[in-house]
Order: sequence, then structure tokens, then C-alpha cells
Amino acid sequence: MQYLIAAFVAMLAATSVVTLGLVHRLRAQRLELERNRRAQLMYEAALRLSGTLESQEICSGLRELAGRAIPCDGMVVSSFDAASSTVRCVYLWVNGQHLDPGTLPVLPIDLANGRGMQTEVIRSGAGRLYADVRDRVRRGGRYFDVSREGRVRDLSPPDSQPAVARCALMVPYKLEGKVVGIVQMMCDTPGAYAGEHLSILESLVAPMAVALENAELYARAHREIVERTRVELALTQSEEQLREADKRKDEFLATLAHELRNPLAPIRTAVALLQTDSPQHENLPLCLPMIERQLGHMARLLDDLLDISRIGRGTLPLRKERIELADVVGHAVEASRPLIDAGRHDLAVTLEGGPIILAADGTRLAQVLSNLLNNAARYSDAGSPIELFGRREGDEVVIRVRDRGIGIPADLLPRIFEPFLPVDDALERSRGGLGIGLSLVRKFVELHGGRVEAASEGPGRGSEFTIRLPLGPELPRAVPVARRAAASLPVTARRRILVVDDVPDSADSLAALLERQGHDARTAYGGVEAVQVAREYRPDIVLLDLGLPQLSGYEVGRQIRALGGGDPPLMIAITGWGHDENRERTRALGFTHHLVKPVDPAVLMQLLAPAEPAKN
Ligand code: ADP
Repeated sequence: MQYLIAAFVAMLAATSVVTLGLVHRLRAQRLELERNRRAQLMYEAALRLSGTLESQEICSGLRELAGRAIPCDGMVVSSFDAASSTVRCVYLWVNGQHLDPGTLPVLPIDLANGRGMQTEVIRSGAGRLYADVRDRVRRGGRYFDVSREGRVRDLSPPDSQPAVARCALMVPYKLEGKVVGIVQMMCDTPGAYAGEHLSILESLVAPMAVALENAELYARAHREIVERTRVELALTQSEEQLREADKRKDEFLATLAHELRNPLAPIRTAVALLQTDSPQHENLPLCLPMIERQLGHMARLLDDLLDISRIGRGTLPLRKERIELADVVGHAVEASRPLIDAGRHDLAVTLEGGPIILAADGTRLAQVLSNLLNNAARYSDAGSPIELFGRREGDEVVIRVRDRGIGIPADLLPRIFEPFLPVDDALERSRGGLGIGLSLVRKFVELHGGRVEAASEGPGRGSEFTIRLPLGPELPRAVPVARRAAASLPVTARRRILVVDDVPDSADSLAALLERQGHDARTAYGGVEAVQVAREYRPDIVLLDLGLPQLSGYEVGRQIRALGGGDPPLMIAITGWGHDENRERTRALGFTHHLVKPVDPAVLMQLLAPAEPAKN
């Protein structure tokens, strides 16, 4: 019996040893299997997470991989910004749906005193398993729940009711040892998470952190490349614009030289003709109007240039008056008459309705219409008709200038009002013009609060320019400029006039003209000399050039006014400088007028003429 018992115990012991060995082997096999599964997961994570540079894809990849080994109803990836000590959701997935990460609020992290779960994880730098989130929130911190429909609920207040019990895994992700974010996995099944889940998530989060960093580096590099490309493009564009502007400037200078030479040629010929003239001066009737016409043309070119420069500097003032459209049109037609007649154009002017009264700068408006009429004449074949049509439309005045000329190509139409517009057509070049007429038209019209449009059905089909001006309030009738000026001069016919100009030809010719008009004239070719002459000559009027050597015209004016002994002479500046600052300086020094060279002698004589006695 004893033998039997001993045998049984020995057998039991042997069986136990075998069973234990079996259990041990089975456990080892399971661990091996587990290790293999983990290794497989890690391998896939390495492949999957490093295969993309898009942060949303990286987070999705992590969720899918982790979801194979860890129960998951939701996943949140948040970045932690140490500078502002805040966490911001960058990836949000709840119950099978991707939601906008902005749905979750940015949360402040109080690393020193905060008691929330995320604060805890960031502070410790270690992953945590929260078996009951709700219970944990009761002990402090904030927690937000996202419903199936993507609704965010704050579970932090003690009376808030979570939809489900929830457990969570929170794992920090780090770069160079510093926490830069948190991956959070959630499950609605109580007790779903165990220590091994936390360890799996921890091992998956490490490659995700590297992948996210790479994605960020790539995104930054991409942004830098885009920015650099943008800057390079902008540089290239501005270089091109500069080159284009430079080219336009060169073309403009060439055109300017050409345009200034054009009137000079007939003047030179006329002078040569006059030199060989007979004592009866038979060439005079031919030459004088010719010279006058060409000088007028040159003066207009220079006026346009000055205007464009003043407009560019925003210093072109409008002198608005109460004017009648018919008068403006009359002046414009008169100014364009030489070109219209030269081309034998048939000009039809129609102003519909009664008189149209405008509050506008009559001179500028006439310049606008004259520019359009000149173009209509220049860009049409000889003999073709030109129409000018004006009428009131509502609270606007509409003026149209139409021709049947060469027309405007469609690609040129949108740019037609740009200054110095290069026109390739050699034929058009030969028609003359500086390429600033239309830009002046637009600027003047805009200064009046109006607008201008160009239309053409294409080459050979004529052009039409339409101006619309607001009617605006009526102004009192203006006193003509020349009359106003003359009113301040003493009422004597013969005046003592000192002409100061460092170009003797200018001074001498003007003095001779004044003598012819019955005045007494003296000349001075320099500033110092001018003051000396003024001291003993005591002129009534000084016509003063401003750009003088040694003593500027301004200074000469000041010294002459300071001479004392009777009324100071009236001073009129006659100068090449027509900018507003020049005009303001002469006004401040007491000059009565500021005329820009070349001065129209008729205008000057009108200024010097005695005032008519006032009629009461
Ligand atoms: P330009 O001094 O060259 O005439 P503008 O500014 O007045 O300068 O006009 C610019 C360009 O517009 C002209 O060179 C011409 O090509 C075109 N253009 C202007 N008016 C007309 C028109 N009535 N018919 C055809 N082309 C025109």
C-alpha cells in the first residue's frame, strides 16, 4: 500500500512537472506570438508612418494600426505649444468619423498647478491609463466629450452627464526629449484598457512623432520654397516692369525729340526764306503764320508734358467756374481747327437740348475735347467725317467724339489711356503725337469726377470716345482771367518795363516788341544788373526770368521790392518753371502773374493793357 501511495505521488509529481512545463511552454509561445504581433505592428507602423508627409494621413495611419491592437471609439492628437502653454487639437476621430480639429477648444495648460489629465501627462512626460475619465475629471481639470454627431460637451462641471462611461489612454509624443503633443485613445466600454494597451500605444507613438516632425519640416520647407518662388516671381516681374518702363521712357524720349523737331523744321526753313527775302518782304505772309502755327504746336507739346508731370505729382489744381458746354466746345474746335482743316475733315457738332451749364475748369475741358478732336483728325483719312455730340443724360453731361478713321485694335483698347503707350504701327507713329494726349484726357475727366471710355469695332472701323461728367452745383459766372489781371495795373498806356532774362535774344526781342506796342523798355541780362537798373530806372513793371545766374529771379524780385521810394513795380515772372511750388514762391514774393515760356505775346499784351473803366 505504501508502495502504491509513493508511486501515485511520484506520478502526480511527474504529471505536475510535465503540466507546469507545458504551461510554461504555452506562456512562452504566447509571449513569442505577442512579441511577433507587436514586431509586425511596429514594422507596419515604420512603413506606413514614414511613407507620408501629410500630418492628417500620419494620424489616420496611427489610429488604424493602433485600432488593431487597442479598443478604440475615439482618437485625439493634440499639439502642445510650450511658449503659450496650450494644447490644440490637430486630429479628431470619433466613432468612425473624422471631425474638424477646430471643434475642440484650445486648452491652457498650467504646468505648475494644473490638475487635468493632459497637464499630468505633459508634466510627467509619461503615458497614463485613465480607467474612468469621468471619475478622474471630478478630481480636477477640464475634459471635453465629442458626441457621435460631432457635438462637443464640456464634462468638467460636476453636474454634467457623460453619454457613456469612458476610459482613455494618453501618451505624450516628444521631440529631442521635449513633449510636443499628446495622443489620446478613448473607449466607451468600461475597463477596456490594460497596461499592455498603453505600452503598445507608447511604442506606436514614437515613430508617429518622427513622422509628424518630418511632415512639419517638409511643410515648412514647402512654405519657404513657395514664398521664395513668390518673391523671385515678384522680383522678376518688377524687373520686367522696370525694363518695360525704361523701354517706354526711351521710346518716349525718341518720340519727344521727333515731335519737337517737326515744328522746328518749318521754322528753320521760314527763317532761311526770310533771310533771302526781297525788300518787299514777299515771303512774310507765308512765313509768319507758319512760324506762329509751329510755335503754338511746340508750346502745346510742352504744356502737355508739364501737365502730365503735375498730374503725376498730384499738384494740378482745377479752376472750376460756371461754364457753358457750347463755349467749351467752341474753344476746343478753335484749337483743333488747324488739324481738322489740314485733313479736310467734315466736323459736325451737335449739342442737344438747351444750354448745358457745368461747374468745371473750362480750359482743361476744352483741352480734353481738343485732344479727342485732334486724335480723330490725325487717325482718320483725309476728308472723313468727325462728329462731336453732347447732351444731358440724367444728372450727367455726355459728350461723344466719333470718327470713321483707322480704329483701335481690341487688344489696345483696355490700355489706350495709359501714358506713353507704345504703338508699334510705324504709320501711326508718323501721324505724330507724344502718346500722352489720352492719358491727360482721362486724368482731367477724372479730376472733374467724370469718366471716359473708348470704343472701336476694330481696325478701319473708326473710334468713339465717350465722356460722362457730373452736372454738379452751379457756380456764379466767372470774371475773365485777363480782365481780372489788368484791373490791378495803373491806368496809363505807356509803361516803363524792365525785361530781365539771361538769354539776351529773349530779353531783346521782348523789349523790342514792347517798344513797338508803345511802352518804354529796358533790358538786364543778369540778376545783379537787374537790381541796379531797377534802382535808377524805376520801372512800372518788371518781367522777370527766374533761372538767372548768381542771383535767382526770386531774390531779384525781393530786392527790387525792397528798393523803396514810391510804389514797388508790378512783377511778372516769365519762366520755364511752371510747377506749383514755383508759382507759390512767386505769389508769396508778391509777383502778380506767373507765366510759363514761351509766353503768347497776345496774352502778355493783354496783361499790360490799361484796364477799361468800370461800367456801373
Ligand atoms: P498720341 O500722341 O500718340 O496720339 P494719345 O494718348 O492721344 O497719344 O493716343 C494714344 C494712342 O491711341 C495713339 O497713338 C493711337 O494709336 C491711339 N488713338 C488715339 N485716338 C485714336 C483715334 N481716334 N483713332 C484711332 N486710334 C487712336
